[in-house]
Amino acid sequence: MGAASEPFRLLVLPGDGIGPEVIAETLRVVRRFEGELGRTVEVSEALVGGAAIDAHGLPITDETAALALAADAVLFGAVGGEAWDRQPIALRPEAGLLRLRKDMDLFANLRPALCYPELVAASSLRPEFVEGLDILIIRELTAGVYFGEPRGVEDLGGGVSRAYDTQAYTSVEVERVVRAAFDIARGRGRRVCSVDKANVMQTGAFWRAIATRVGADYPDVELSHMYADNCAMQLMRRPKQFDVVVTDNLFGDILSDAAAMLTGSLGLLPSASLGAADSQGRRKALYEPVHGSAPDIAGRGIANPLATILSFGMCLRHSMDAPQAADRLDAAVRRALAAGARTADIATPGATVVSTTAMTDAVLRELEAV
Ligand code: NAD
Repeated sequence: MGAASEPFRLLVLPGDGIGPEVIAETLRVVRRFEGELGRTVEVSEALVGGAAIDAHGLPITDETAALALAADAVLFGAVGGEAWDRQPIALRPEAGLLRLRKDMDLFANLRPALCYPELVAASSLRPEFVEGLDILIIRELTAGVYFGEPRGVEDLGGGVSRAYDTQAYTSVEVERVVRAAFDIARGRGRRVCSVDKANVMQTGAFWRAIATRVGADYPDVELSHMYADNCAMQLMRRPKQFDVVVTDNLFGDILSDAAAMLTGSLGLLPSASLGAADSQGRRKALYEPVHGSAPDIAGRGIANPLATILSFGMCLRHSMDAPQAADRLDAAVRRALAAGARTADIATPGATVVSTTAMTDAVLRELEAV
């Protein structure tokens, strides 16, 4: 990690819809921690997604991609909207995010699923199954069946055709994400569950063997293995049994969404995407809320800023070497919810609904107390 006195270079990409609204509020929280940590945060801002298409004809320019590579971290809002839905795939707003993931080689996608006591009723599971839930799903993000070659559709003749994708992993691709999971588990419950389909897939047996080998380097972290189908069931049956779950791109896509819904609200879900650590332990990193640009509520000042604020909390933890500050921010969010602050998406019966700005005010106020 960089020395505390060095400025931290944060590239902010607000994007479209509610992206700029939740990013503006999160920057208030960034400024607050800047003072507290005694470390300057140099914020630069650029266009991405539909906003970049309108200005430059591209979802991200080479200049912005270069800024992202040079930054200590990227804070991303959300992209997309009806105005750009008819663009060809390569020129859709989402292509800007995909390019960043590829250029920055962000192979480890972290999706925490935390259930706040005040919001247990929002979960689709009974309160006793989710109260106190704190799990982290780590999904491999740059390889596997979404990228494997060959892929295609072929005509077999006689009116029959065949489509195929390829699930492929190199040992390097598996090892680096599993290692990231073990490193991160050391800062939490020290348990890693590696998820695969070793019973039916070559890549699954390969994944399991590498996870076992890497696990030997972490005798202080407990390693277990689980088949992906069983993991899906266990997430619904007894989700609190997990601490860190690490899995491939396809299973991670599905399992992280399932875990997310245990907590009930899209407006509360942060994420981090991390690259390899350099010799100083610094990783390329992009932090973003899980939700999209929510065009249905954009411009009304009612979006929930907490997913983005909590994404900055992940930045404090994983890029700014400030785990205690991250813990305090998490605690302030919890206290704001406990004090009754609710944006419309998480409103409980009888609650007073607050605006995007008022929700941030509540978090900043609670930061005084933690
Ligand atoms: P969405 O996440 O934008 O919205 C789904 C629903 O959740 C909407 O009703 C919305 O109002 C609500 N919601 C989402 N975030 C909220 C918040 N912070 N506070 C309160 N309510 C919130 O998903 P969608 O409607 O399927 O997609 C809208 C656009 O976003 C599309 O163009 C899609 O492609 C894009 N998208 C972008 C990303 C991204 O930038 N990473 C992710 C998902 C979707």
